[in-house]
Amino acid sequence: MSRPTNLTELPACGPFREVVIDLPAVTHNVRTIRERVGDIAVMVVVKANGYGHGMIDCARAALAGGAQWLGVADLAEAVELRAAGMTAPILAWLHAPNESFDSAITHDITIGVSSIEQLERAARAGRARIHLKLDTGLSRNGLAPAEWVAAFARAAELEVSNQIVLEGIFSHVSNTHEEEDAAAAAEFDRALELATAAGLNPTLVHLSASLTTLTMPQLNYSMVRVGIAAYGLSPLDDREPSEFGLRPAMTVRARVAAVREVPAGVGVSYDYTYRTPTATRLALVPLGYAEGVPRAASNCGPILVAGERKTVAGRVAMDQFVVDAGDTPVEVGDEVVLFGDQARGVPSVAEWARACDTNVYEIVTRMGGRLDHVVVE
Ligand SMILES: *Cc1c(COP(=O)(O)O)cnc(C)c1O
Repeated sequence: MSRPTNLTELPACGPFREVVIDLPAVTHNVRTIRERVGDIAVMVVVKANGYGHGMIDCARAALAGGAQWLGVADLAEAVELRAAGMTAPILAWLHAPNESFDSAITHDITIGVSSIEQLERAARAGRARIHLKLDTGLSRNGLAPAEWVAAFARAAELEVSNQIVLEGIFSHVSNTHEEEDAAAAAEFDRALELATAAGLNPTLVHLSASLTTLTMPQLNYSMVRVGIAAYGLSPLDDREPSEFGLRPAMTVRARVAAVREVPAGVGVSYDYTYRTPTATRLALVPLGYAEGVPRAASNCGPILVAGERKTVAGRVAMDQFVVDAGDTPVEVGDEVVLFGDQARGVPSVAEWARACDTNVYEIVTRMGGRLDHVVVE
């Protein structure tokens, strides 16, 4: 059974299929970001199971790299971090309708507040720590500009009467274009002036996620919230992670489950969207859309088979797909790699994102299903 020689820093591939998480890479990436931003706080975003990498492990690795804050979407994710023993401050910003915020009080979780109504509920929960979340252009979550004056006045009242602790104020940018992100920052500055005029003086002011942290340091304020960069991936389609000193933490690989020799003209997988151009050798890979391999990778996903670059042949099915190995002497049990750190000679997550017409975020976050989760400490 052959194995790509440049993967030797990772443990040997298991018997079937797995996602391997390189935690030292996460620690390295967070340290690299910390050095880049200098003297401000770094929040590492570990929502959605750490973008598919494992929330608890990645939170630990991020704290080891110097992260001061952890960020999640839901309170339930924050409670899970506390249950695992994390004592770092945690911000959660996307809440169920009528969420009481009781668990935020019990577990000392800071709440991102996106409406006046949530502000009232946070106060009723009993001196919740809050960061006001503002909409500066994304049109998603966050207080709309028309609400800012009223919300800031009410927050000031609740703070003076000790019903809330106002720790921070933040917004999120669209990552569409530098000019648009700068315009959002100008809106944010206008909001900060209104907040100051209302008597608010939050210590944590934050706007940037990975993209602007890496490319527009003038938007860093007193904290940045980084997700994708901590996992070693570039938020920009046209820039490699290595340009920023980042190392991809996730590798997905499997062992060839079957090999068959076929003549030219044979249909492969559902709908026969691939027909062998010549007599060839087909390798069956036990990864499908149940594991998170996009069906959109049919006939285009790049893959390393027995050390050589190949492409998914035919449809990706629920449990499996086929690779036309051509002359490559692939055997049952050989290692195949979907993606990992391109410095190790394997396809990158960005290549998969391009092949599937999506972004790197979606590729890694969806990986799971029946993959064994292997952690490199
Ligand atoms: C997910 C998220 C982030 C992290 O974004 P990246 O692009 O992965 O760095 C930051 N802030 C908010 C509000 C988010 O929802």
